[in-house]
Amino acid sequence: MEAVILGSGSSAGTPVIGCRCPVCTSSDPKDRRTRASLWLRGDAGESLLVDTSTDLRHQALREGLDRVDAVFLTHTHADHINGIDDMRAFNGLQEQVIPVYGKPSVLEAAEQRFHYCFGEPPPPEKGWYIPVLEARPLTEPFAWGGLRVTPIPVEHGRWTIYGYRFNDLAYITDAKTITEASLELLEGLDVLILDCLRYRDHPTHMRVEEAVATAERIGAKRTVFTHFTHEVAYSGLAEELSQSMEPGYDGLRVPL
Ligand SMILES: [Zn+2]
Ligand SMILES: [Zn+2]
Ligand SMILES: [Zn+2]
Repeated sequence: MEAVILGSGSSAGTPVIGCRCPVCTSSDPKDRRTRASLWLRGDAGESLLVDTSTDLRHQALREGLDRVDAVFLTHTHADHINGIDDMRAFNGLQEQVIPVYGKPSVLEAAEQRFHYCFGEPPPPEKGWYIPVLEARPLTEPFAWGGLRVTPIPVEHGRWTIYGYRFNDLAYITDAKTITEASLELLEGLDVLILDCLRYRDHPTHMRVEEAVATAERIGAKRTVFTHFTHEVAYSGLAEELSQSMEPGYDGLRVPL
């Protein structure tokens, strides 16, 4: 199994349009961040996407992603879902309806906002010119191919959204706090990929200090932080972190 960080940025991406700050003008490629999402490749060839970020097309071309067997949505904030139209490329390549899993209320919101993506499959002669997705509400752990998938409810400000655990990897992209009950679902992780927005406080995301404390509490063998704003320089944060923790970046591949 391998996880690929498709995007490690927050909603604006880095560089931010029009910004001339040191990170936005940095020459370090690890400071160029597209919007947050994850690609997971299972041992049996499964190819899963967590979120359809605004930058999905660019990310797929960059990483050679040409098959998606299922999408797992965390929530419907624009940076996590607005690339959903690019799913039609995979429908066309695979000539299949693609399932989209998520919290029931999140899928309802997705179906409202992108109603044209959740219709009947077109007759074969018409081709797959729009995304054809099937909403599959998820509230309990289940087996998907060779993976055990566990939805992890996390508090993202006033919203309770999902992170996901796939076997011994967990991906929690937007969270301010994690309840005791959800922390119990995160025991024994090999890899934790966790929200780490910036150094200053934020009402709906973990700042660096909170992310480090949460990562220590969870105690994964390896923690990779993600969803950074332009206030965080890759090299600066990398120097500050302990051995088991590191900042993620676009294109980082994490073997499991
Ligand atoms: Zn900037
Ligand atoms: Zn969000
Ligand atoms: Zn986000």
